[in-house]
This record gives sequence, structure tokens and C-alpha cells, in this order.
Amino acid sequence: MGIAEWRGRLERGEVSARELTDQHLARIEAVEGTLHSFLEVTAERARADADRIDAARAAGESLPPLAGIPLAIKDNLCTKGIRTTCSSRMLEHFVPPYESTVTERLWQAGGILIGKTNLDEFAMGSSTETSAFGPSRNPWDPERVPGGSSGGSAAAVAAGECVASLGSDTGGSIRQPAAFCGVVGLKPTYGRVSRWGLVAFASSLDQVGPFSTSVADAAELLQVIAGEDRRDGTCLRAPVPDYSAALQAPVKGLRVGLVKECFEADGLDPQVKSSVLAAAAQLEALGCELVEVSCPRFNDGIATYYVIAPSEASANLARYDGVKYGYRSEQAGSLAEMTARSRAEGFGDEVQRRILIGTYALSAGYVDAYYKKAQQVRTLIRRDFDAAFGAVDVLLTPTSPTTAFRFGAHAEDPLAMYLADLLTIPANMAGLPAISLPCGFDDGGLPIGLQLITGVLEEPRLLQVAHHYEQAARVMDTRPTAALVP
Ligand code: GLN
Repeated sequence: MGIAEWRGRLERGEVSARELTDQHLARIEAVEGTLHSFLEVTAERARADADRIDAARAAGESLPPLAGIPLAIKDNLCTKGIRTTCSSRMLEHFVPPYESTVTERLWQAGGILIGKTNLDEFAMGSSTETSAFGPSRNPWDPERVPGGSSGGSAAAVAAGECVASLGSDTGGSIRQPAAFCGVVGLKPTYGRVSRWGLVAFASSLDQVGPFSTSVADAAELLQVIAGEDRRDGTCLRAPVPDYSAALQAPVKGLRVGLVKECFEADGLDPQVKSSVLAAAAQLEALGCELVEVSCPRFNDGIATYYVIAPSEASANLARYDGVKYGYRSEQAGSLAEMTARSRAEGFGDEVQRRILIGTYALSAGYVDAYYKKAQQVRTLIRRDFDAAFGAVDVLLTPTSPTTAFRFGAHAEDPLAMYLADLLTIPANMAGLPAISLPCGFDDGGLPIGLQLITGVLEEPRLLQVAHHYEQAARVMDTRPTAALVP
């Protein structure tokens, strides 16, 4: 059930906020032993918040839109007084003294924090396998990864441990786990949502967004978290439109662009391809016009991303020096030795790999050959999008080249793991909004995700097309049974 249904039941007194919270806590209790979606479950706070909402309702107060809805938050978003670890030893004991803008807005809207979710360390990964606290599992098949880096947030929604959740997306970390777990995941336009209180990975790419079981819920959550924030200088001042109202507008006559390069990509699973093409045909049946478009620079996205993102990460992660906060090595030594040991012991392998790549790409003599070149290619990717949006209203691609893979499948080969981001990275490079939603299942019963992309700040159109497809296709009605998906 989604936000609107639960809100209706809460308003009619069919369920109390406390009961709703307890139901979700019971579900967490039942499945967490297998899934490990959460790093921390905030049961006490959730019950207290729910009781307060029930009391306010009983007193006849008018309540905000998310009043009583249990939500989970990726553990790289700062929550005041509640540990925020980024799944890293480095921040294992970090308790933020402040609240991120997005979570503050959720709590002001009445949302209830039920727990902090697992992720790849510092959001670097596509499977949650780089978490220092152990991976999360996919509710459709616990032998497989939930995707990443926001794998815990996706698994928690898919398994019914919360009604919705937040994640962050730098190169696909909302959309890819959404696809692997059969839920909706939205990455907004860069700057649409404040990054204040999101632990920085690659600041020119990072964006916060929701996971939900429906497009309508994604619209509701975006409504709450979007909008100007003076504490984030890259946050846009553009007014926030009514996203829920936008869902209903007819899609007849809209031009949907199928990005040729994405359907010809190396390693694209044929079942993923045919499922996404069937979704395109469904949009055509709804009156959309299908157009093939070419974005020749899309395939350069990964190479570009793996220069720019590690470069920015190496600068952002320089602050973990063993002095100000975070892990400090017990071993004595000079200041330089202490910092080096703290970083060697506090960061896992993948984070260290990214810092090394980034430091190299930014170093004197190489910065022009790598970083500057990557920024130039980034501009070319953006121009591909500009040209495409001259001809179509929305672009359609698979979200990920494959369905959820098995644990360890890419463990020895970082490059194979990086390829999982092939189709999601271009939208980050250009700062565009993009959504993943379920469009079918493979022979193994694993969900397949469809990605839609629109122009800057065109979330209304993005959500509208996604909603119409979702309502027409009713993909979840055809789902195979899976023990951990309600
Ligand atoms: N999988 C990509 C990476 O490892 C994207 C991560 C993200 O979006 N945070 O960098």
C-alpha cells in the first residue's frame, strides 16, 4: 500500500500511526535477519513520534501530508542525534549535530523515521557489498544483491519494511537498486533537492531522491523534499510545481525517444531489452509516438564518470584526517603517520581505490589529460541530450543492463562492477531528472527496470509518463511469488 492509501486509512481512523509503525517494526523484525536493509532501526523514536501524531489527531489538529508514514533514510543523510555512518568504519561512531534539509522537511511533513539503511561505503558501489557492516540482500532472491549504492533503501521498500525511503544518486545509486528490487526510484534534476546534510561523494553529481512502491508516492515525496535551500549553494531557486497534479495530464501525442546506443550496449541482457521494448510499445498504445534517437557520447559516460567522481571524492574525503572527527588510529606516531594510518584503517578498499584514482587524475601534469578532458566529454554528453530533446519529450532506456546479480559476481573485477552504471550515468553527467520503474520480470523471477529521462526541471513530465505507463501496465499484478516481497 502507498502513501495515499495509508493516509486515508489513518484519517478514517481504520489504523493508528502507532499501529502502522508497529506493523512495520514487526515486519523488520521478521525479515531483517535475512535482508539486512537497516544499519539501525529507530524503534523507540518511531513509536514516540507515532504516539504524538495520534494524540494530535485525537485533539482534532489538522495534520501534514506524511503524518504517521514510516520512512527509512539512507545512512549518508545526517540525522541529528542518530548515528550516520555511510557504512564506513571511518564514521562508525559519528552522531551528527545537525539534520539534513531533506530529512528535516520529511519530519516537518509528519513522516516517521523508522531506521537508517545500508549502502555501499560512502555510496561507492553498485551492490552494497562495499559496506563495512555487511551487504544487504535482495528481497526477490536473497542470494542476489539489491543493487547499490542505496541497496538498503530499495530492499526496505520492496520488502515492506517501510512505506518509502530516501537514497542518493551520483551515478545511478537510486535507479539501479530500484530496478533490481522492483520499486520506483527517482533522481531529480541536479539542484532540485538540497544536498545540505548529505555526506558528500561527488558534489557536482550527488542528488537525493525517493524510493517508493508507486510513481504517485515518488511525486508526493519529491513535493516535500524539493525546493530552495540557502544552505546549499547549488540548490535551485525555481518554484516547486504541483507534482501530483501533473500525473493526470494525458500522454497522447508525446514523443518518446528510444536511445539507440542504450539498446545496442555491450552486455545488455536480451530479456531486459525485450521487456523494455515491450514497455515502449505499451506507451505507443497509450498514444505516444516512438522515435529512435542517437546519443553517440553515452558510451563515454562511464570513462568520464570514473575520472570526475573519484576526483571530487578525493577532495571531499580529504576531511577524514583522524583529527576533526571520525576514526583515529590507535597507533602512535607523527601527525602524518597518524593521518595515514587512520585513513588506511578507516576506509575500505573501494574507497581507497577511488581516492587514489581521483588524486592521480587531479595531480599536476595529469589534470589536463584526465580531469579537464573528462569535463569536456561531459559537455559533449550534455549536448547529445540537448539534441535529443530537440526531437522528443522524454527518453526511454533500460535502467541497468542486467537484473540483480549474485554476490561476489564482480568482486574480483571492479571494471565489471562499474559497467553496471552504463545506462544511468549519462543523466547524472547532464544533471537531468530520471526515474526507474518496474516493467517486467526475467525468467528467474527477478524484476526488470525501465528508465525515463527528461530535460532539466521537467519532473512533472517525467512523473506523468511514468505514472501512465505504471497504471496501464500494472506490472506488479504479474509478479512471481517471492518469499520476502509482500
Ligand atoms: N555505482 C556508482 C559508483 O560506484 C554510482 C554510485 C552512486 O550513485 N552513489 O560510483
